[in-house]
Amino acid sequence: MKRKVTKIVIVLAILVVLVSIFYVVVTMAADRGRPYYENAGKIVWDIKTEEKIIALTFDDGPHKKYTNEVLDLLNKYDAKGTFFVVGEQVEKNPEVILRMYEEGHELANHTYSHPFKSTVPQLMEEIEQTNDAIFSITGYAPKLFRPVEGLYTDALIEEVVKDGYKVVMWSWHLDTEDWKDPGVKRIVDIVLKGSRKGNVVLFHDGGGNRKQTVEALAQILPVLQKEGYKFVTISDLLQVQQKSKVQQENAGKS
Ligand SMILES: [Zn+2]
Repeated sequence: MKRKVTKIVIVLAILVVLVSIFYVVVTMAADRGRPYYENAGKIVWDIKTEEKIIALTFDDGPHKKYTNEVLDLLNKYDAKGTFFVVGEQVEKNPEVILRMYEEGHELANHTYSHPFKSTVPQLMEEIEQTNDAIFSITGYAPKLFRPVEGLYTDALIEEVVKDGYKVVMWSWHLDTEDWKDPGVKRIVDIVLKGSRKGNVVLFHDGGGNRKQTVEALAQILPVLQKEGYKFVTISDLLQVQQKSKVQQENAGKS
């Protein structure tokens, strides 16, 4: 009886050790979260600033009709947007890409075929393909990348950063979910109630019927402008972040 108990204790002890090893391995392999990537400056969600600035971002375009309508609205309110474009659509709509570029908006990479499942090498190839397409139209090579659905792995981020890109997400509370056609009012409410200094808003100008997005934007822009917001590109936002970091460092020194 005593030997049986000892045996059970030994088996249990081994199990505990195995489970702990497994847990440690899994934790180490798990993808790093926001605090790590934000501090490392590899991914940006939004920034802390006292300046009344906000970045409007548009995914999945360009689209011949909706993107042009978005651009008309942005221009009307002296707003700059950042467009995370899909390579396939870039090739179909080069004139829209050229217009974005010439009107001072920021072009950014959102893969070539918008795959929902893909390997890192495949994604790297898609990113390069899209950048080539944008470069051949504008002579400009984007420096920003947004993964499909904002999903990433450590392996992907490492590769993308190694290639000189910064990864851009969005303020989680400013995901308009406009691709679900939630209604113009819902999109307007999310943005107007949630907007804070240094935030990043997520819209979609392609990938389907974006009538609601355009109508919502027409209501959002004048209100935020009246509140004193300036609409800047992601690169502008990053510059402001950089400037305040330097100021903080200098303040710490003196
Ligand atoms: Zn997308």
